[in-house]
Amino acid sequence: MKKCKKKSKCSYCGEPVTNGDYMVVGKLWKKVGAEHAMHRVYYFRWHVDCWVEQGKKRADEVAENTIDMRSSGRPRLELSDTDRAERNKLLARRSMTIMRIRRAQEANPYDIDRLVRLGTKLHQIDSLLSNVGGLPRSWAKN
Ligand SMILES: [Zn+2]
Repeated sequence: MKKCKKKSKCSYCGEPVTNGDYMVVGKLWKKVGAEHAMHRVYYFRWHVDCWVEQGKKRADEVAENTIDMRSSGRPRLELSDTDRAERNKLLARRSMTIMRIRRAQEANPYDIDRLVRLGTKLHQIDSLLSNVGGLPRSWAKN
């Protein structure tokens, strides 16, 4: 978390984040092109409240969709064994991270630094997942 120095737009509510406001900055790497190890970096800015709000929304959606996933026989992704193992590892790490975010929020909703660290980790896992099939489709709603 840091203080806003330059006016920018909140990635969640679309309202401006103004000078002196606290804001959360997130980074997301996306691979551009299969052969070239090019990465494009996306920056996200949120009001602190919006950041917490979108984190909760994601966690809730994932919790709901985990149940759907088991009951509906979704087609398997075409992945090599190595990629599938990597993907399963990332998915496990992802749900672990979401659990830790929820616990951290329950324990102390004002420990923003910790929430930001976990949120950044979640974004990193998501961007790694995009190399091995991406998020399960039902998760990618927002
Ligand atoms: Zn906002």
